[in-house]
Amino acid sequence: MYNIVYIPGDGIGPEVVNAAMRVVDAAGVACNWQEAHAGLGTFEATGDPLPEATLDAIRGAHATLKGPTATASGVGFRSVNVAMRQKLQLYANFRPARSIPGIKSRYDDVDLIVIRENTEGLYSGIEHTVVPGVVESLRIISSKASERIAKFAFDTARRQGRKRVTCVHKANILKLSDGLFLESCKKIAADYSDIEFDDCIVDAAAMKLVIDPHQFDMLVMENLFGDILSDLTSGLVGGLGVTPSANVGDDAAVFEAVHGTAPDIAGKGLANPTALVQSAVLMLRFLGEKEAADRVENAIRQVIAEGTSLTGDLGGSAGTEDYTKAIIAAMG
Ligand code: NAD
Repeated sequence: MYNIVYIPGDGIGPEVVNAAMRVVDAAGVACNWQEAHAGLGTFEATGDPLPEATLDAIRGAHATLKGPTATASGVGFRSVNVAMRQKLQLYANFRPARSIPGIKSRYDDVDLIVIRENTEGLYSGIEHTVVPGVVESLRIISSKASERIAKFAFDTARRQGRKRVTCVHKANILKLSDGLFLESCKKIAADYSDIEFDDCIVDAAAMKLVIDPHQFDMLVMENLFGDILSDLTSGLVGGLGVTPSANVGDDAAVFEAVHGTAPDIAGKGLANPTALVQSAVLMLRFLGEKEAADRVENAIRQVIAEGTSLTGDLGGSAGTEDYTKAIIAAMG
């Protein structure tokens, strides 16, 4: 029996979280689901978008399944996601991008993984006004966090049978900060002689990913580059509605979709839960429930390939409920 925290979040969050929980239950994995709260709704109700009780619940659980949470741009409270990653030291963001037959996109055989450093870079949140009209944001890179993420990438590559890790950086211009990131990756690479290592400058990596994504296997990079390029790789396999993610630290792991709260369709039963169900697949693999993970993943692929129960964003007319039921039925 696993203790799993679920955070419904805002907008379509409760709808997609509910769908993912039902699929995990139907896969036959015994979970003790514990509800915890975060996001705009929680802020409005309690004055705190990320209560300490939620952080404690996540720390005490085997894993957490999180719905999207709303953040206002420019003003208001700090992003729940950024705060959660830093407070729980969820230092690795794991974003696989794998084509799903039936989802139209530029390529039909993409299979790569982006590993993003999750705790520093420009997301350190250290900003100040120098003089009125001029602000400064600090981009923190440390050897400790860079070696830690590189080690995570190589360990994951080894576990998943990946052949090559590419460090993506801008060390030609940002000689100190990205120079340190690249050197840290090189240092760790020396301990993994079974896995190839190379590097690529971030702008060239963006172009190469669009022209021919097959030349990459696993990519590791700092926070901002990872934020942008992992959305790019999502776009190669059908977009944010279908791509999962995991935020992993030494003491906690949070699995969430990469899309937002979709306020335009919230509460209408139209949301596509694929991204969160796929995130639940990553959670099952993290828990060691390989068979259940395969069963759910195959069911998603079957339902999408059949094409009769697709949600609106994938060109179908099914709602969240019909699609979820189709996945559960496909698991047999
Ligand atoms: P969004 O991802 O919420 O929506 C972009 C578009 O994609 C909308 O048209 C939406 O309807 C559609 N869409 C997104 N997910 C969908 C799904 N599962 N099924 C069907 N359609 C889907 O992005 P946004 O509008 O830029 O952001 C809205 C809010 O979400 C903001 O407050 C933002 O801060 C927040 N957000 C949260 C997270 C997170 O918690 N991980 C991530 C991104 C954005």
